[in-house]
Amino acid sequence: SNPERDRLLQAYEWTAKFYHFLLKNTEHGKAAMEYLRSRGFSDKMIDLFQIGYAPDRWDTLVQFLTKRSFDLGEMEKGGLLSVRSDGEDYLDRFRDRVMFPIYDRNGRVIAFAGRVLGDAQPKYLNSPESKLFNKSRILYNLHQAKPAIRKLRQIVLFEGYGDVISAWEAGVQNGVATMGTSLTESHTGLMKTMADEVVICYDGDRAGQAAAMKVIPLLEGIGLRVKVSVLNEGLDPDEFIHKYGQERFVRQIIDGAVSTTKFKLIYLKKNHILLEEEGKIAYTKEVLPIIAMLQSSTEREVYLRELSAELQLSFESLKQDCNEIRQSMQKNM
Ligand code: ATP
Ligand code: MN
Ligand code: MN
Ligand code: MN
Repeated sequence: SNPERDRLLQAYEWTAKFYHFLLKNTEHGKAAMEYLRSRGFSDKMIDLFQIGYAPDRWDTLVQFLTKRSFDLGEMEKGGLLSVRSDGEDYLDRFRDRVMFPIYDRNGRVIAFAGRVLGDAQPKYLNSPESKLFNKSRILYNLHQAKPAIRKLRQIVLFEGYGDVISAWEAGVQNGVATMGTSLTESHTGLMKTMADEVVICYDGDRAGQAAAMKVIPLLEGIGLRVKVSVLNEGLDPDEFIHKYGQERFVRQIIDGAVSTTKFKLIYLKKNHILLEEEGKIAYTKEVLPIIAMLQSSTEREVYLRELSAELQLSFESLKQDCNEIRQSMQKNM
């Protein structure tokens, strides 16, 4: 046993309850509650994810922890408080933010992500790394998603907290997210122990789609099957759900997730004007090596036929180029 660790866990648990109480039951929490409602967060989700509010004051949590006889130095080291710039006093680390508790896989609160109510920067403020919290290992919502993940042998990977929460309400209960960091080997290794398939459901903006491109080889590289959701208009999953509804989200975005090859073809297409000869040729040069890499000749044929129809090029010439690329790839191995 480790008494300091236990005290910190206790403090995080009580702080999460306290912030949740302040959000729901006090005047301080009113604006935050209105903000959450305006974004479409239901009371049920606010409770289930124990969302809270840290008031716009310097000592709300300081007083709460002092009353409960916690050592403030220990709490500062543990990431709940900060030190005033003159080094003389302790202050609340999170002020005027909507608080998302971060749980470990056993359901214990080990950190927070705090969101500003408006457009100020930084949008999210995370707890610092601590004895309890290592963000390159944490998958948000894993503790609640575990049963569904094990049952379906599938994980849906999101970028943000709001995406996980709105998807959960839509019935997608095998969703997790990283903490705004890139996916690490420790994340992928953990995923591999629970699932055979991952659906990458990143934001529909450029950054999200580029991040999906990066994540594909990390997951496929350790033998996971991968599919990718295609979101249009730059929407993120949370925004899609509120714009088009839960049913359409599940059908089009989750069940309609495409193969990684298809996703790469869609992604690369955006860089070219296919109505122009040069665009057609450049696009073909980019995608043929991807198709040539596929092990199964049936699979290669499927994508080559699609490409042939889309670019109005003969299947035979595409296939011939593809085979030549394949041969030169094999020679180089
Ligand atoms: P919201 O819907 O509340 O605006 P989001 O989840 O859609 O948030 P994105 O900008 O898409 O936010 O970022 C995705 C994720 O990246 C966030 O959920 C958060 O984990 C992380 N993130 C974004 N901005 C920051 C930041 N300034 N500091 C730390 N993490 C951040
Ligand atoms: Mn984004
Ligand atoms: Mn987003
Ligand atoms: Mn969002």
